[in-house]
Amino acid sequence: MNILMFGPNGSGKGTQGAILKEKHNLPHIESGAIFRENISKGTELGAKAKEYIDRGDLVPDDITIPMILDRLKQDDCKNGWLLDGFPRNKNQAIKLDEALKNEGLDLNVVVEVVLDRQIAKNRIMGRRLCANDNNHPNNIFIDAIKPDGDKCRVCGGELSERSDDQDEGAIDKRHSIYYDTETGTLASSYYFKDLAEKEGRIKYITLDGAPSVQEVTAELTSKL
Ligand code: AMP
Repeated sequence: MNILMFGPNGSGKGTQGAILKEKHNLPHIESGAIFRENISKGTELGAKAKEYIDRGDLVPDDITIPMILDRLKQDDCKNGWLLDGFPRNKNQAIKLDEALKNEGLDLNVVVEVVLDRQIAKNRIMGRRLCANDNNHPNNIFIDAIKPDGDKCRVCGGELSERSDDQDEGAIDKRHSIYYDTETGTLASSYYFKDLAEKEGRIKYITLDGAPSVQEVTAELTSKL
């Protein structure tokens, strides 16, 4: 099964992607993670990508598109993949569609996690990390997982903020790219939605990202 995941930063897309990956035993290919790995290993690709990533801009298509298309040709992708963070603009969507057709590969499922922009921003800025376990959910803006005073609601551990979660300018920049329905990430998602409606070979699933992780997972499972 070949799956694409879309959702704004803060929508829980990564969490749902990780659940799908486990369930269907697929390689979870995240473009952002590939860039970060290249930066930490000091590769040429990493050096080229870093300046764009640091500014919150997209890495140019002539670097990103071949990187992802090559990744999809590796052995672990033979029985399917879950692609997350790519395509990020309409051009990438068109190039991915062309490449899949050339390789005789089908895209089976597209998942779009829908969340209001302000809610997504609050979620990111309200996130707090527990010193004992990063998976303990704490968010000062979500009633169901509000910290216990200034301590972790699960274990009472010390809480801290992730520095990039508090950079409002960077969050706004990333969201402006995501919510752009003309050329941005939603445009690329809608490119596949149109294909799904016209050709019927792609299943396009829309999820409401507002409820709890368990509820979103239940909706995803029921629609898959
Ligand atoms: P992410 O971890 O998905 O938020 O990605 C981190 C950064 O990597 C983004 O802000 C972009 O600078 C870059 N990046 C990730 N995916 C892409 C893509 N498909 N096209 C261009 N740049 C990307």
